[in-house]
Amino acid sequence: MIRLARLRLYKVNLELLKPFRSAEGVQRAKQTYLVELVSQDGISGWSEISAQNDPSYWPETVSTCLEIIEHHLTPLLGVEFSSPFEIASIMASVKGNQMARASIEMAFFDLWARHDGVSLAQLLGVPADNTHIPAGVSLSMTGEMEVLLLELTDLHERGYRFFKAKVAPETDTAIFELSRTDFPLDHLVLDANGSYAGTSQEHLVRLGDTGVALIEQPLSERDFVGHADLAKRLVTPVGLDESIGCVDDIITALRLGMTPTVNLKPSRVGGYVESLKIIERCQHEGLHLRIGGMLETGIGRAHNVALASHPAFDRVGDLAASNHYFANDLTEPFVLSDDGSIERPTGAGLGRVPDPGWISQAPCLDLRIR
Ligand SMILES: [Mg+2]
Repeated sequence: MIRLARLRLYKVNLELLKPFRSAEGVQRAKQTYLVELVSQDGISGWSEISAQNDPSYWPETVSTCLEIIEHHLTPLLGVEFSSPFEIASIMASVKGNQMARASIEMAFFDLWARHDGVSLAQLLGVPADNTHIPAGVSLSMTGEMEVLLLELTDLHERGYRFFKAKVAPETDTAIFELSRTDFPLDHLVLDANGSYAGTSQEHLVRLGDTGVALIEQPLSERDFVGHADLAKRLVTPVGLDESIGCVDDIITALRLGMTPTVNLKPSRVGGYVESLKIIERCQHEGLHLRIGGMLETGIGRAHNVALASHPAFDRVGDLAASNHYFANDLTEPFVLSDDGSIERPTGAGLGRVPDPGWISQAPCLDLRIR
């Protein structure tokens, strides 16, 4: 049995080593909050709010998450828990707001695993020997083939073997040109973030012949019919990312005859309870699964590493070393192994905690759970 005592929110403002451009805009820093849940026994669990400052990727923002956490979720947490899985139903009266709910649910799973002295991965049902996750690195969008090729070469020299490039109709000629080089296109995922909505399907059909591994989210997030129609016309597999907010969205795609590769971000679907439903459904239907990323700090990255070590993830996702994003992460950094993988930390829970020096100076909102 676990009862919660406090929920603390620590303000994060971590500059990115390089600005990150996608079809939605440019991000220069990771500005969010870490969530610390503390039990009455004094055990802490950690997560981070994965929303951005603007709703360009997903309807929630850091501000909406703070509002929902403080005024609508924290008041629900003053109960006695006999299983970590109960947290989802405790918070079910709050509709939508997946990233806000996930930040509490994921911290709670970390806390529970630490309480039981097991790894978070073990609590999620991952085999103990699945400790190395192949790394994949996301590249900022560019319309110039030379720039793209230079960056791919540099990342390849640093040990990365799988890549994702952000694309939009205005910039995708660089990708076409890449097909004339000896770069292994089947190690490249294109992520459109919905930027082909409203363009002619012929343009996309042409894009689909480039030989890349996947095109992710070409159309708007609610356009399931459009994605299903398009997938029938493309040679390249089509992936869904922003479209998937819960397991029912996968069932919708399947009913429309689509078999998408699913980009799963646990924070975007409300946390681990829904993530495990999605994993089960993907395994049952034979859908490919990859882990997504939101330029997380070490805390969010540790959560993604734990989930991505689940054997259902059969496609390389967006999981790179900390030093690709930050000069100084908030936790012990994740490093790229010689075999191009990221190692899952050992130890209870996430196997990572925020740097105590950073915690002591971070602005903190301390909420009591009653
Ligand atoms: Mg994506």
